[in-house]
Amino acid sequence: MSERFIAEHIKTLKPSGIRRFFDLAQSMEGVISLGVGEPDFTTPWSVIEASYHSLERGFTAYTPNAGLLTLRQSISRFLDTRFQVRYQPEDEVIVTVGASQAIDLAFRAILNPGDEVIVMEPSFVSYIPTITLAGGVPVIVDTYEKDAFKLSKEAVEAAITEKTKAILICSPNNPTGAVLSREDLIGISDVIKGHDLLVISDEIYADLLYDDTYTSMASMEGMKERTLLVSGFSKAFAMTGWRLGYVCGPKDLIAQMLKIHQYTIMSAPTMAQYGAIEALENGLSEVEMMKESYKQRRNYVVKALTRMGLSCHVPGGAFYVFPSIKSTGLSSSDFAEQLLMEEKVAVVPGSVFGDSGEGYIRCSYAASMKQLTEAMDRISRFLDKLKAKE
Ligand code: PMP
Repeated sequence: MSERFIAEHIKTLKPSGIRRFFDLAQSMEGVISLGVGEPDFTTPWSVIEASYHSLERGFTAYTPNAGLLTLRQSISRFLDTRFQVRYQPEDEVIVTVGASQAIDLAFRAILNPGDEVIVMEPSFVSYIPTITLAGGVPVIVDTYEKDAFKLSKEAVEAAITEKTKAILICSPNNPTGAVLSREDLIGISDVIKGHDLLVISDEIYADLLYDDTYTSMASMEGMKERTLLVSGFSKAFAMTGWRLGYVCGPKDLIAQMLKIHQYTIMSAPTMAQYGAIEALENGLSEVEMMKESYKQRRNYVVKALTRMGLSCHVPGGAFYVFPSIKSTGLSSSDFAEQLLMEEKVAVVPGSVFGDSGEGYIRCSYAASMKQLTEAMDRISRFLDKLKAKE
């Protein structure tokens, strides 16, 4: 095939580092994967049934572009009761194909060529490519273990230029599990308002917060009109394969985003939307049960890694730990590769989440206690072997 067929800016786009390890791990036998970020639970049964019944009743056509109004009403009620943010279901909500599409839509709708977007790192692997694909320029602000991987208002202020259009915030964060408190958000939102910026707030892990109550960026004073709240069903409701998320924001911006959505997606999958209504209306007790289980596993994994001598910040939310492997002297990618080859445990090198992730690995604890116990034994054995080689 001729090279000419491929757009130049796509040739330079790197495939996701997470997938590379996932594919490698899948091709081997006996691997325990702490690699991919998805719940080990199946979707709550009532959600499956609701979706199934929608098919039985013949609801197999497109929905309105923005999603079923009933679902948008449920989303609106859910956000109001849980996080005290009010969105009009009619014109401030779009149901998307995962939070992934919501993030892509947001950047495509707001960025002119050369506009800068501030992104905290280490961060979820999609942000930088989606900004670049939309013609924007990512500006990285690093976060550090010594600050519990929190984004500081000073760092945000220092990254702002006259080209800054928006800032992407993700709390609880993937991969660090860091959570921004109300006080942190007050500081950051003051800077944002002071410079007239927009926020894309990725709140997909908001319901998986272990030690506190969640504060949404959109609930801060004067922020709703400059926030795109992105969330979805994948994580809290264990619905990764359903591909359903949403974005809420100021109606003028939502109307612009809806045009892109209309032409590129039409509408999110209908049967998934019927399932999602049930999830929001009746699924919260199952979310609480899963959350309790993740919390026990988090506590176990943090303790086990710390006991092995890997310093490990206690993640406040999501289902990842991000221990430092700097003491081994290996790069995160060598560590992950050797651990996979020698002990058959798949983790993700911190460097795939940005340069500041170097020296760390991401382990998902959304795996059974049996798998986690075995994985911790294997990691401990791997570290002992490394020490013996010194
Ligand atoms: N945001 C973050 C922070 C994530 O970790 C993920 C999934 N790993 C997503 C968005 C995308 O989720 P979805 O399945 O809803 O597209």
